[in-house]
Amino acid sequence: MGIELAVRPYRRRFAQPLHTAHGLWGWRAGLLIRLLDRRGRVGYGEVAPIPWFGSETVAASLAFCSAQGGEWRGGEVPDALPATQFGLESALADLTGEIAGKEPAISAICGLLPAGPSVLGIAPQRLAQGHRTLKWKIGVGAITDEIRWLEQLVEDLPRSTQLRLDANGGLSLAQTEQWLAACDRLNNNPQLATVEYLEQPLPPDQLEAMRALGERYKTAIALDESVATVAQLEACWSEGWRGVFVVKPAIAGSPQRLQAFCQQHQPRLVFSSAFETAIGRRAALAIAARCSPCPAPALGFGTQGWFDDDWDTLTPADLWDRL
Ligand SMILES: [Mg+2]
Repeated sequence: MGIELAVRPYRRRFAQPLHTAHGLWGWRAGLLIRLLDRRGRVGYGEVAPIPWFGSETVAASLAFCSAQGGEWRGGEVPDALPATQFGLESALADLTGEIAGKEPAISAICGLLPAGPSVLGIAPQRLAQGHRTLKWKIGVGAITDEIRWLEQLVEDLPRSTQLRLDANGGLSLAQTEQWLAACDRLNNNPQLATVEYLEQPLPPDQLEAMRALGERYKTAIALDESVATVAQLEACWSEGWRGVFVVKPAIAGSPQRLQAFCQQHQPRLVFSSAFETAIGRRAALAIAARCSPCPAPALGFGTQGWFDDDWDTLTPADLWDRL
């Protein structure tokens, strides 16, 4: 017996276009899914792909969903459609009441910092808002300037602050070593705030170089762009990666497969948003709550209020009706 499946595409505009390694990102597009069973139970899900992370396109997901003929029989979703796997599986979990929809405390969420020297003024504001962990984009300006700002930052901020430095795969090997040496030096001083990790210093095809650096420096390295899907997590794990993994559940694929990977290997995971709506966010946070180690590292979900709309304030049913 099938479950009624309905799909609605959405597009929403970023209040400020996002700078990505692939240019400006002005509009976020995706699909909302609604499942309805014969008992009248409703479950919402979201397909929120990021094509340059290797996810399927919205069109490919829509084609798959439309081909189901308005009914979901719980069949296999191909691995080539990881965001669709997440959307359908989490809609089903919502229908069966497995998604609590509890928003974490702001102290459990990583705050985002702007690139460049304005970080020095913004970071204290983020701490005043309640964040305890902050993420800063690096590899944007000259490295000597950026390391100088970092030195200032760890001195200014309370010692309990954790900083994540995200290079989006944009550093050279020599620059990565320069950053790691600076981080190790600063982390050696207990009077200063801590650099929790350096995120994706090198492009995804340089895993072995990052693994070797991970053995030479004390500051942890995190993979992000390298591990968009559970299949890539599994591959990096089997190639010996034991550093941090940043996981975006909305594009990682099947939540069940992700949970199985976590239970089997207990990797160091940090969960992160893919700029999904409140529907995908609830499902992604539910996965994070199930799979995070204890104590859990801060959640990379400081992404509310980034869009030029009021959707963050709507319930899933209201958001669905709005489309
Ligand atoms: Mg990143």
